[in-house]
Formats: sequence, C-alpha cells, structure tokens
Amino acid sequence: MIYLNGEFMPIEKATISVLDRGFIFGDGVYEVIPAYSRRPFRLEEHLVRLQSSLDAIRLANPHPLPKWTELVGRIIAGNPWEDQNVYLQVTRGAAKRDHAFPKGLKPTVFLMASELVPPSAELVKYGAKAIVLPDFRWLRCDIKSTSLLGNCMLRTLAADQDCVEAILVRDGELTEASASNVFIVKAGTVLAPPKSHLILPGITYDVVLEILRANAIAHEVRPVAESELRSAEEIWVTSSSREVLPITTLDGKPVGRGEKAGKPGPVGERVYALYQQYKAQVMRAPAHA
Ligand code: PMP
Repeated sequence: MIYLNGEFMPIEKATISVLDRGFIFGDGVYEVIPAYSRRPFRLEEHLVRLQSSLDAIRLANPHPLPKWTELVGRIIAGNPWEDQNVYLQVTRGAAKRDHAFPKGLKPTVFLMASELVPPSAELVKYGAKAIVLPDFRWLRCDIKSTSLLGNCMLRTLAADQDCVEAILVRDGELTEASASNVFIVKAGTVLAPPKSHLILPGITYDVVLEILRANAIAHEVRPVAESELRSAEEIWVTSSSREVLPITTLDGKPVGRGEKAGKPGPVGERVYALYQQYKAQVMRAPAHA
C-alpha cells in the first residue's frame, strides 16, 4: 500500500503527471525512515532533515509534523513487513516546463515502503568491498534531493567491480559514499568528516557519533585526507539500511595491517554491537517516549 496526494492505494494504481517536476527536473526531496517491529526509528530527526531539504529548495512543507507521523504510521500498518524502509517523497508538482521554480503549485506527496533487510551476518562478519572514486556530484549534497543521478552513476561503477559502495573524495579529502556516510579509524581514533554542503547529514552518522561520545571512544570530527582513508586501520560505511558496515577491501587491497588486514577491526565491531544494543533499547521503550 502506498500514499499519493491524499489517498492510500496499491502501488499499481498510483499515477502522476508526466509534467511533474520531480520527473522533468528531479525537483523534489525525500527521506528514508527505517521501521523496526513496525516502529519508526528516529522519526523526528528524519522529519527535521526533510524540513531542511524542503527549505533549501524553497518548497513549503505540505504537512505539519503530526500529519507526517500519522501518514508514516498508516503506511507501516498497511504493509506486510515487520521491518520496513518507509520512503517519503515530495516534489514541486506538475507545471508547464520552466526551469525557474513556479509559485503556488500543488506538491506531489508520495509514501511507499519496502522490506528492510539489514546486512547479512556474513557481510557484517567478513566486511564488504568498496572502491574510491572522485566525487563529481554537485555542491549541495546536504540536500536529500531526488536528483540522484550522480549517486546512481557512482554506485553503478562500484557494482561493476562487485563492490557495495563507492567511497568518494573531493579535492584530496573524503566526503561520503554514494549512499552512506564514511568513518575511518586511524591510530586507534575514529575520524569522521564534518557536516558540510558536501555530505548528507546522515541520521546514522549522528547515532554513531552519539555512541562514540557516550562510550568515551576516541574520535575526532575533522576533514579526512584521501591518504588517511587509503591507509586507515578500519573503514565503515553507515546508513539507515547498512547500519554500521565494515569495508575490508578498498580498491582491491585489504584494509588495515597485520593480523586484522582485510578483516573487520575491533573498534567497528564494538560500535556495531553498541548500535544494535541502542536500536533494541529504543525499540523496547514505550511508544512516544
Ligand atoms: N549519504 C548519502 C548520499 C545517502 O544517500 C545516505 C542514505 N540515505 C546517507 C549518507 C546516510 O544517511 P542515513 O544515515 O540518514 O540513512
């Protein structure tokens, strides 16, 4: 079951105008909210990020927070999976073709869900492969825009090489990956690039930083040089669907040195466990707590 512009319906029945600016220009923003045991995770944070994306593209939020909460709840209830990804998309709506944003359009509001399958135990245990690519996307990667062509091209280049992610560098520094944020471990300290217009402010990125702080795990939020990425002891990618996933092969070479080379490292394993604990604790808490 999906939601489109005021109505719930099966996805096969949903149609939008060919003049929708989401289709013509990629003129829209979106969110992906994980739901575990039918409860949305960090819903408010996702809705705050949605508001920032809408503000950045001068699109009025079509719904107040309680209405979004209700819609997300109804989508979760109307779909068969206990764990779901809830997708929420807002485009500027349909209009005569013109690059400049027309005023007063009725936005297109779309919600759908898919089954949420976290990375397999195997992947978490052995880690995944990634490649490094130049970040050729635009300079407003902080907006969660539906214009994802750059990300799709980069992810496809990674998939061509049997890799789960493309880790991106711009002007000699790590930015993020095609659909996740990136953390590295260097001399035992976790490093994360600071939030800026060059990366999406990930909800999982925030959760991981909270976990590092709460557990006094050494970390620094600061620019990370490409050379540091390439010589890191550990690399993790984080996202709502990937959680905290170790990258153990980078550009065909094992990540890390010595005994742990090409295997998930101790810091990542600890953070992964703490992330699972945190998730379980949040999901057990009373609703609306
Ligand atoms: N960066 C990009 C480019 C992404 O697409 C995503 C996932 N949507 C992320 C980072 C991670 O964000 P989150 O933790 O909110 O899923």
